[in-house]
Amino acid sequence: MKHNFGAGPGILPHEVLKQSAEAVLDLNGTGLSLLEISHRSPEFEAVLNEAVSLVKELLNVPEGYSVLFLQGGASLQFAMVPYNLLPQDKKAAYLETGVWANKAIKEAKFFGTPVVVATDKENNFKQIPKNYEVPSDAVYFHVTSNNTIYGTQLHEFPKSEVPMVCDMSSDIFSREINVADFGLIYAGAQKNMGPAGATLVIVKNDLLGKAERQIPSMLNYQMHIDNGSMYNTPPVFAIYVSMLTLRWIKAKGGVAAIAKANEAKAKLLYEEIDRNPLFKGVCVPEDRSVMNVCFVMEKPELEKPFLKFAEERGLVGIKGHRSAGGFRASIYNALPISSIQALVEVMQEFAEKNK
Ligand code: PMP
Repeated sequence: MKHNFGAGPGILPHEVLKQSAEAVLDLNGTGLSLLEISHRSPEFEAVLNEAVSLVKELLNVPEGYSVLFLQGGASLQFAMVPYNLLPQDKKAAYLETGVWANKAIKEAKFFGTPVVVATDKENNFKQIPKNYEVPSDAVYFHVTSNNTIYGTQLHEFPKSEVPMVCDMSSDIFSREINVADFGLIYAGAQKNMGPAGATLVIVKNDLLGKAERQIPSMLNYQMHIDNGSMYNTPPVFAIYVSMLTLRWIKAKGGVAAIAKANEAKAKLLYEEIDRNPLFKGVCVPEDRSVMNVCFVMEKPELEKPFLKFAEERGLVGIKGHRSAGGFRASIYNALPISSIQALVEVMQEFAEKNK
């Protein structure tokens, strides 16, 4: 088996993959595939209901919020958020922490006025900006909790007077959060929750209906709430696999237990990066991500040989994003600590050979 450090779609628990494969052939002994039954059948309704209640349970979602499984990825949320929340003549605040935040800002311009409250662009997003003001007349404040490409993470969420909207695509279910601190949370499934194709949205109901515009049905949160994520045919496979992954998280002891394991995994890897003279971390230590660990080599000419060396030893997906370079080890929930140990050993072996 490979050690899968891919950034997304990322590693899923092996037992989830096995159960998913079984359900594709025969769902719960029905004699039918998960992929050939009606989404309105009792079997699938049970799957969707369980997925929604597991999200509520694992994240302690309070009353007054709706949990939706939509399509279009996090990228569609970049537009749906302002479409549904931002009137044309109003502002929304954005924290610019990388490419994804930037894309969210770009989409908001179609609907109103996004205001960038802070950026670390000139520094290639090596740290999370701090000490900025959010205008009190902003309709919402958008942040990206984990910056998948650069390997930075908001370890503490800013205190915000205005409702906070958060793109949690690459760290949802990796640590405890207080949902009540947010007006809206969204995440593409394909890192910690399931396969590509489903997008999780958790929205505070009383933020809706204030955008002062007509919204087409498929882009309207209220329409999806009113129809229980079944306004049209939902992404049945992605929801099923997400439900199994959420069951897996619960069986592991929930998000708190997962967070502890994630901390230990990240610590092991960052310690090696800091200790090993061949490697160095990219980001400001206090903002380092627990999910995506970005590092480079002191001698850039060794990067290609190291990548080859690692691949030959079964480590895949560690090449950095094309806009960041170097290496990125994505260490999502389902990646066992044994894979981190394997990476650390490979780094040590390579350093030994290149003294
Ligand atoms: N936001 C973040 C933080 C991401 O990491 C990604 C994808 N890697 C996206 C948004 C875009 O997600 P999608 O491909 O689901 O549209």
